[in-house]
Amino acid sequence: KVSAEPAPIRRLEESLVNRIAAGEIIHRPASALKELIENCLDAGATSIRITVKDGGMKLLQIQDNGCGIKKTDLPILAQRFTTSKLSTFSDLAKLTTYGFRGEALASISHVANLTVVTKTKKDTCAWKACYVDGDLAPSKPGVTADPKPTAGNDGTLITVENLFYNTPTRLSALRSSSEEYARILDVVTKYAVHNAGVSFICKKAGSSTPDLSTPSSSTTQQAIRLLYGQNVAKDLLNVEVSSSKKGKRKRKSSDDLDDEDLEDATSEQWKADAHFTNANYHSKKMVFLLFINHRLVESSRIKRAIESIYTTILPKGSSPFVYLSLQLDPSIVDVNVHPTKREVHFLDEESITECIADQIQAALARIGERVFEYQTL
Ligand code: ADP
Ligand code: MG
Repeated sequence: KVSAEPAPIRRLEESLVNRIAAGEIIHRPASALKELIENCLDAGATSIRITVKDGGMKLLQIQDNGCGIKKTDLPILAQRFTTSKLSTFSDLAKLTTYGFRGEALASISHVANLTVVTKTKKDTCAWKACYVDGDLAPSKPGVTADPKPTAGNDGTLITVENLFYNTPTRLSALRSSSEEYARILDVVTKYAVHNAGVSFICKKAGSSTPDLSTPSSSTTQQAIRLLYGQNVAKDLLNVEVSSSKKGKRKRKSSDDLDDEDLEDATSEQWKADAHFTNANYHSKKMVFLLFINHRLVESSRIKRAIESIYTTILPKGSSPFVYLSLQLDPSIVDVNVHPTKREVHFLDEESITECIADQIQAALARIGERVFEYQTL
C-alpha cells in the first residue's frame, strides 16, 4: 500500500508514557507484590502480612513492621526515580538492597490506586497519603492531597486497589482470580523460604484463616517443611559452596584468555547455599527456587544444569525440589538488565554454575553409595 502522506510524529503525553512503562514493570498482581515484599525486607521488617481480594486485582494490601517512611519523604515517594537506596551509578555495583531505582511505587501509582500509611519509630502518629500517577492526590473530592495524621503501627501499610483500572488490555490479559492468587501465594512462599527469619502471613480479604503463615525465626529446613511439606523436607540435602574455600578456580588450559587479569577482575567472591531433594523424592514438575543476592530470579542455564544431574538418578519424567541461594559479589552482577529484575546476569556464570552442580552431584552420590551399601549387606 502506497500512502501519500506520512502520519505526523507527535510526542506522547507524559502520563501515557508512564503508564506504558509501568505495565512493563508490573505485569500482574504477583509482580506488584514481589516489589512490595522486597521493599518491606529492605526496610528491615520481621513481619509481613498480606491481604488479597479477587486475586489481587481488587485489593493487594501489605503491612510490615519495618523502619517506616519519613513524613517529609511522602510527597515524592511515588514519583519515578525516587529512592533511598541508590545515588550514584557506581552504587549499582555495590548494591545490597532489592530496590534500586525507585520505580516500583511509581509504576503502581500509574496503574492502580495507591495508599500508604506509615509510621517511623520517632513519629507520634502514622501518616496516610494517597497517590495517583506518581503524585499525592486527595483521598476524596474536596480534601487536600497532603498526608493526613492517622492511627497506625510502626512500619508501613501499602494498599493497592483496582490494579490496571486504566489499562483494560492488561486487565483482560490476566487469568482468573484464583490463578492470580495462586501466583501470589507462590511468590510469598518462595520469599518465606528464603527469609525463614521473617514471619509471613497471606490471606484472602474477609477470611479468618490465612492460606500461608510462617513464624519468625525458623530455620530454612523448618520453613521448607512448613511450606512444601514433610515429603520434601524428609528427603532434603544441604550443601554450602563458596569460592573462598576452594581457592582459585581451575581454568581450562585450552582457554587462551588473559587468565591473570580475569582472575583478578572477578576475584571470585561468591557463595551458594543449596537445599535439594535426594533420589527418594520425585515430583512431576521441578520446583526450583533461585535467589541471587536475595532476589527471586530465573535462570534457565542454572536450572538446566541442575536438572541434568537428576536425569541419571530419578526415574524418567520425575523432578526434584531445589532451593538455591546464590550470593555474588555485587560488582559481578548486572542487576540493571531487565525492568522486572527477574533475569539477572553475572560474570563467570558458567564456571560458578558448574562448581555448584558438581557439589550437588557429589552430595547425591554420597547418599546413593550409603543406600547401596546398606542394601547389599
Ligand atoms: P526502590 O525500592 O527501588 O527504592 P520503590 O519505588 O520500590 O523504589 O520505593 C521507593 C522508596 O520508598 C524506597 O527507596 C524506600 O525509601 C521507600 N519505601 C518503599 N516501601 C517501603 C516500606 N515498606 N518501608 C519503608 N520504606 C519504603
Ligand atoms: Mg522497591
